[in-house]
Amino acid sequence: MTVRTRIAPSPTGDPHVGTAYIALFNLAFARQHGGEFILRIEDTDQTRSTPESEQAILDSLRWLGMDWDEGPDKPGPHGPYRQSERSEIYQKYTQQLLDEGKAFKCYRTAEELDELRNQRREQGLQTALKQSDLALPAEEVSAREAANAPYVVRMQVPEEGVCVFDDLLRGTIEVEWSQVDCQILMKSDGMPTYHLANVVDDHLMEITHVLRGEEWISSAPKHQLLYKYFGWEMPALCHMPLLRNPDKSKLSKRKNPTSIIYYQRMGYLADALLNYLARMGWSMPDEREKFSLEEMIANFDISRVSLGGPIFDQEKLSWLNGMWIREDLSDEQFAQQFQQWALNPEYLMQIIPLIKPRVEKFTDVAPVAGFLMSGMLSITEEDFAHKSLERDDVRKILQYASWMLDSEQQWNKDRLFSQCKTLGDAMGFKVRDFLYPLFIAIAGTSASVSVVDSMQILGPDMSRARIRHALNTVGGPSKKEAKRWEKEYRELAKSLG
Ligand code: GLU
Repeated sequence: MTVRTRIAPSPTGDPHVGTAYIALFNLAFARQHGGEFILRIEDTDQTRSTPESEQAILDSLRWLGMDWDEGPDKPGPHGPYRQSERSEIYQKYTQQLLDEGKAFKCYRTAEELDELRNQRREQGLQTALKQSDLALPAEEVSAREAANAPYVVRMQVPEEGVCVFDDLLRGTIEVEWSQVDCQILMKSDGMPTYHLANVVDDHLMEITHVLRGEEWISSAPKHQLLYKYFGWEMPALCHMPLLRNPDKSKLSKRKNPTSIIYYQRMGYLADALLNYLARMGWSMPDEREKFSLEEMIANFDISRVSLGGPIFDQEKLSWLNGMWIREDLSDEQFAQQFQQWALNPEYLMQIIPLIKPRVEKFTDVAPVAGFLMSGMLSITEEDFAHKSLERDDVRKILQYASWMLDSEQQWNKDRLFSQCKTLGDAMGFKVRDFLYPLFIAIAGTSASVSVVDSMQILGPDMSRARIRHALNTVGGPSKKEAKRWEKEYRELAKSLG
């Protein structure tokens, strides 16, 4: 048997360090067994998936030095490797389950489902819905069918008993069937859900081992049942511990930059970041901290993964990166890599049109453009002093802007400007005044190129991190204030597009 593993990211945002972490372990596991590693794009959520995000995922994993054997960009015998191009396959298998009575069409509306769940909650029952809860009288089904009402296809799930499955790291796991609902397999738009597409593809792509984040443990019973329904052998499962913020909460962009692009932009070396991710829950037999991907593969043993939540700590990463820089880069390599990082034509061409009007000679460039090549800026509370803004105004603007930017999906300067303007208006500030604290946060001075241009160039994670850093510098909200502000922000945010 050839070991085959895969990473199956959904292209719905910036490439996440968690994706790189899981990809790395799948890659190491496959290579250690002389096997193959596949990249599959899970883009069945058509409203959230974008080609830009897919491209960024591929670019980031490639930057990190990860190499896959088959993928959307590397045709192989099991393609296509993008789920949106495999609709017919999912249709066929859904029909098979319907024909065999292992799945059923469900015409329930969203309101009815809410009502059913509420009823169960009131009775102190699990809210997982079963076919007996969902069933409608036959005439009602015919009426809805005749009216072409939308329906989904759900899988049959046992009402009672226990589902037992094995995990390479956790041993035997038991989940009561009463906690598992009749999962939707096919949505009303005819697209499959993650569960169906994932099982069908893992089987057809001959995946032997599924290493994925622990947040998928609760999906395993449904997957196991689908394998059984189809009469297929289930791959071995291994749920990796989730990366955590230093405060132990699940790594989230609201607290910690999570985008691989941020770490690249911050000037970390790909080798060091990969090394750091390998240290997340795993250790070399001799416990050494610094090692390459090849060394990891040569020494890989999945049972050395420890389940305590690994903490992703930027300070530790910086320390490791420093070692890589000092020990592994000759001066020539340093020069070459630094040039590639800061002075590559693509980056320079974004910056030059902005700074050219502001310089008279090349010696003016570094002072004007330095903030575009920096990490966190050295700013003080005094830098935020402004004739028409009180300290509390500044704190609020930074906090509200930070919340607004957390949920911004379209990261381009026009959109950023219109969102800032709308939020500034709603808060009762002139747009110039509203932007002032953002200038200081992003560029360290208000005498700088346009702040929205700068945010576009710096990207979401770096911009958000600088604004959070600024907020900490001026003083973020107390617990009490945060509650009040959040409420107020939620009201104001209604005017945002
Ligand atoms: N598309 C899922 C994700 O975004 C894949 C989960 C899995 O590996 O099964 O993480």
